[in-house]
Amino acid sequence: MVSMNSDTWKMRISMTDGTPTRLKLARRTILDYPVTDMIDLSSIQKDILANKIAKGFNTTDMNEEFIHTFEELAEATAAYRKKLPDLGEELADVMIYLLGIAEILGIDLGREIVAKMEKNRKREYLKIDGVPVRTKEG
Ligand SMILES: [Mg+2]
Repeated sequence: MVSMNSDTWKMRISMTDGTPTRLKLARRTILDYPVTDMIDLSSIQKDILANKIAKGFNTTDMNEEFIHTFEELAEATAAYRKKLPDLGEELADVMIYLLGIAEILGIDLGREIVAKMEKNRKREYLKIDGVPVRTKEG
């Protein structure tokens, strides 16, 4: 049974049915995440686009938006490599640009992420010469 008063999904999963946590983590689905831990990406997307519009930033040239996303990823990479304290902020910049692009293009990125996670979860791999090779799409 699922505990609804746990503070984290890890605690919640470990309390479900006694199955070892590591195994349960590999099999979890979106339904396993407690509602309190979920972020409403749909609302965030809308806020990001509203901020762009309010500030007069680009909302029409998608090439520019993708370039900015790559720039932010490069900044995050540099922050990681140089052990800078703003790595989290740079990763957030990447996500903000991605969510902004999704909102401009009418894509619910939260739903897409959940769907892709499920697709990835069903995929099976076999290590061949130390390299994981997909053997089942799911
Ligand atoms: Mg940045």
